[in-house]
Amino acid sequence: MKINSLSYNSITLPGNKLTASCPIEAIPLPEKITVPMVCYGNEYNPIVKKGQTVLAGEGIGASDNPVMPPVVSSISGEVSGIIKYVDPFFGSLVSAVVITSDGLGKTIEPEKSPAENASSRTLLNFIQKTGVYGLGGGGFPLYIKLLSAMNARINTLVINGMECEPYLTSDYRLMIENATEVINGTRILQKILSPLQTIIAVNDQYPDAITSLDRARASIEKGGDITVTPFKSSYPSGAEELLAKAIAKREVPPGKLPQDIGVSVHSVATVKSVNDAIMSGLPPLERIITASGNLPRCSNLKVRIGTPVADILNFCGGTLGENNRIILGGPMTGRTAYNLDMPVTPTVSAVLVLKDSRTPESECIRCGKCIDVCPVGLSPVDIYYNSRAGKYEECSRHGIDICFECGNCSYSCPSGISLVQYIAITKREIKLRGSKD
Ligand code: SF4
Ligand code: SF4
Repeated sequence: MKINSLSYNSITLPGNKLTASCPIEAIPLPEKITVPMVCYGNEYNPIVKKGQTVLAGEGIGASDNPVMPPVVSSISGEVSGIIKYVDPFFGSLVSAVVITSDGLGKTIEPEKSPAENASSRTLLNFIQKTGVYGLGGGGFPLYIKLLSAMNARINTLVINGMECEPYLTSDYRLMIENATEVINGTRILQKILSPLQTIIAVNDQYPDAITSLDRARASIEKGGDITVTPFKSSYPSGAEELLAKAIAKREVPPGKLPQDIGVSVHSVATVKSVNDAIMSGLPPLERIITASGNLPRCSNLKVRIGTPVADILNFCGGTLGENNRIILGGPMTGRTAYNLDMPVTPTVSAVLVLKDSRTPESECIRCGKCIDVCPVGLSPVDIYYNSRAGKYEECSRHGIDICFECGNCSYSCPSGISLVQYIAITKREIKLRGSKD
C-alpha cells in the first residue's frame, strides 16, 4: 500500500499508544457535571438558574451570536450552582454551570431524523438543530463550518484519522469499533458538500483501522466514492492545514482556511457524532477519550461532557507514583489540570497522568531549534521576544496568526521555554485588543 507523506518540518515522538488494544468502555453516569460557558473561543451566557431541573440535551447556555448553537447539559438533574471557572483552553475566567444528576439520564424530545433522501439543506438544518460540533480540537459548531465550506464550493472532503499525538488512541479505537458509523457520517457530509473526492486520511501506524474502514466502505452503496488512504505518521501530521496542503498540493494562504484551497477537513470523531445525531435525534452528550499514563488501568472511555477528572481517575483505579502532572488532552496540545473537578469538554481528547518533567525556563541560547521544527515556517523565538516586550504588532508581522499551537517549538527548546504558551496568550491578547478597537 502506498504511504503518502506530508512535506513540512515535523518531529518524531515516541508513540506510547498504551491503550491501542483497549476497547472503548462507557463509564457510569457522573453524579455531577461542570459545563463551562465557552465554545470555540466564544463566551456564552448561562440561561438556567440554580435549583432549575434540566434534561440531557437541554440548552443551558446561549451565545450573543444567534447562529451559535446552545451549550447543552449532558445529564438530567438539577442546576446546583453557577460558578466562575478558569478555562485552560479559553485562557480566562468564564461562568460554568454545575448540574447534579438525578441518576435517570432523561433526555429532551429527540429531533425528527431526516429521511434517507433528504436534501443537503435539510441535513444541514438538522445538524444546526442538534448542535453537532467538531471534536477534532476546535470544538467549532459543525453547521457553521459546513455552511462556510458549501459557500466556498470545496472539491475535496477529508476525514482526519491521523491521531498523531503520543498516548492518544480514542480515534484509533473508534475507527476499529465504529467503522460503519464513521462511513455513514462521512456519507452525510458528502451529501451536504457534494465533493469531487472524499479521502479518509489514516495514520500509517494504524493498519487495523485502515482494514476496518475499508471493509465498512465496501459494504455500503456508493462506498466506492470514499478512499481510505494511509499518511505517514509524524508530528503534527493531523493538523488540518497540513493535511489540506498535502492533498491539494497547495499552501493554505496566511489567514485563510483549508476550504479556501478547496478542502474541508473533519475528524473521524466528528463524522461519528453526525451519524449518532441522525440515529438518535439528540445533541452530542458524550465523547470518547483516552485515559493513559501513570494509571493502574489505562483505557479508552466514553464519558459524558462535563464529567470531572476525578471520576475518570477513580474509574481507572487512581494514579501511580508521585510528582504527576494531569493533562487534559494530548501531551503536545493539552492543558494542565489544576484540580480534579476540572471537566472533560468537547475539545478534550484525553486525560493523561504523566510524570512532571518540566524544568524551570532558562535564557534562550539562540540555537534556532524552534525555527527548524515549526511546520509553518515561523520564528517562534522572535515572537517570544516581541511578546515579552509587549510588541504585539511585531508578533503579527512575524505571522503569529498562522501558529496553530502544535507545541513543536516548546518541545524542542533546550532552555525549556514554553514558547507555545507565550504565543497562545499573545494571540488572545491581540484578539482582545482587536475586539476593543
Ligand atoms: S506552536 Fe506555533 S510557532 Fe510553535 S512550532 Fe507549532 S506552529 Fe510553529
Ligand atoms: S529553541 Fe529555545 S533556546 Fe533555541 S532559539 Fe528557540 S527559544 Fe531560543
